[in-house]
Amino acid sequence: MYEELAMYIDGEWCQGSDGAGEDVINPATEEALARLPHAAAADLDRALAAASRGFAEWRVTSAYDRCAIIYKAGELIRERADAIARTLTLEQGKVFGEARMEVMVSADIFQWYAEEGRRAYGRIIPSRIPGARQMVVREPVGPVAAFTPWNFPAVTPARKIAGALGAGCSCIIKPSEETPGTAIAMVRALEDAGLPAGVVNVVFGVPPVVSEHLIKSPIIRKVTFTGSIPVGKMLTRMAAEGMKRTTMELGGHAPVIVFDDVDVDKVTSIAVAGKYRNAGQVCVSPTRFFVQDKVYKSFVTQFSEKAAALKVGDGLEAGMEMGPLANKRRVEAVEGFVSDAVACGAGLSTGGERIGNQGYFFAPTVLDDVPDEARIMNEEPFGPLAPMQPFSNFEDVMEKANGLPFGLAAYAFTTSTKRANAVSEALESGLVGVNHCAISFAETPFGGVKESGHGAEGGIEGLEAYLSTKFITQLNS
Ligand code: NAD
Repeated sequence: MYEELAMYIDGEWCQGSDGAGEDVINPATEEALARLPHAAAADLDRALAAASRGFAEWRVTSAYDRCAIIYKAGELIRERADAIARTLTLEQGKVFGEARMEVMVSADIFQWYAEEGRRAYGRIIPSRIPGARQMVVREPVGPVAAFTPWNFPAVTPARKIAGALGAGCSCIIKPSEETPGTAIAMVRALEDAGLPAGVVNVVFGVPPVVSEHLIKSPIIRKVTFTGSIPVGKMLTRMAAEGMKRTTMELGGHAPVIVFDDVDVDKVTSIAVAGKYRNAGQVCVSPTRFFVQDKVYKSFVTQFSEKAAALKVGDGLEAGMEMGPLANKRRVEAVEGFVSDAVACGAGLSTGGERIGNQGYFFAPTVLDDVPDEARIMNEEPFGPLAPMQPFSNFEDVMEKANGLPFGLAAYAFTTSTKRANAVSEALESGLVGVNHCAISFAETPFGGVKESGHGAEGGIEGLEAYLSTKFITQLNS
């Protein structure tokens, strides 16, 4: 039913050498699924040594042969999608259909990077010096330390592992201890596809202990992290000590600007689907709804009706549209956001409380006329909460949309091309969705600006993140 949990070091599945570990909890039942081993310092050192040897072998493996292995892993993940998705729902909570889609997207990411790794082209620059040939070559940056969160247990490891491997790097990944089984299943696919020992290693432990040990090691040349802004800043500071390259995919607080020329029924359907996907625990989740005066009331009413109609329950049960929150911390956090907003004067249009007394279920919630000073208008809610505010003119709403330190995703809905162009130009955001929320694909760059981080995953930018540039000038002797 659930994945067998182990670490993967130097091509061997293993337990931690000092017996430490923790239970993985099913958020729909609050029951333990399995025991996860933690790495002791000696295990992390073995993983580092393995990644160093793995890199030496993988970097000289031809891009053609690397492609065959990574591509095959993608095929195996597709074949195993039902089982992996089941593991994902059990440990993370999202409904099975969403979990399966995430696993298929991850297979796509592996296959896209398998191919793209064959196109890490250099170039020849005409020389000023007669007889000299000037070459720019792209080389893998080196062993990578990757840290991934619990909200997308398949896609976040897939982006990091596939990007690193496609570029010729080796990798040590520490997936979230709360959702370890999905990454383990994907790494089994890489092993079964013929990946040499040491090229990918999987470890678990106490996050700050593992990250400090790995990032401080001279073996690691690149750090990639998806998670919260405070942790991202801490890891970036640590990486800076060794002048190591970083990619930081951090939090967001996506504004959604709805102009009064839209079809409210159509837009509320799109926005509700986007908002409550993965119970809102998505870094690009639509989170601050600014709706133009004329359609504000009908937007709030229709959005609330559609939110209230969502079927919430165990993600493995047929027909469910939203699962539980992933952990107890999230339930406490969203309760805090709701009570603070209401205390500040917001209206509660629907939801606002836990469902049942077992599992971390929380009702899809809409908060109406939320004042600027409410915490939810300033901090990432990371839950099934949709705060709404009316606006009257373009300048005011853009000031609010850009007024926070975040800059990951932003959305706008309008039937005017002129407005669409103006709003997408004005938004300070790494990702902009106009009239829809589909902003992430294997072949498109994904990443933020401002405190939401730097660097992109996905697209040619995602391969670039694992390559360094070498200039060679060669004079005929
Ligand atoms: P958190 O800040 O403790 O952890 C966030 C993630 O970072 C987790 O996966 C955790 O395992 C990992 N982590 C924590 N400390 C680490 C360290 N020192 N080294 C390496 N990894 C470390 O918070 P949380 O309670 O898990 O989530 C709270 C907030 O984090 C959310 O409200 C959201 O803002 C943010 N978050 C963002 C994303 C994203 O996709 N960008 C994903 C998960 C969480």
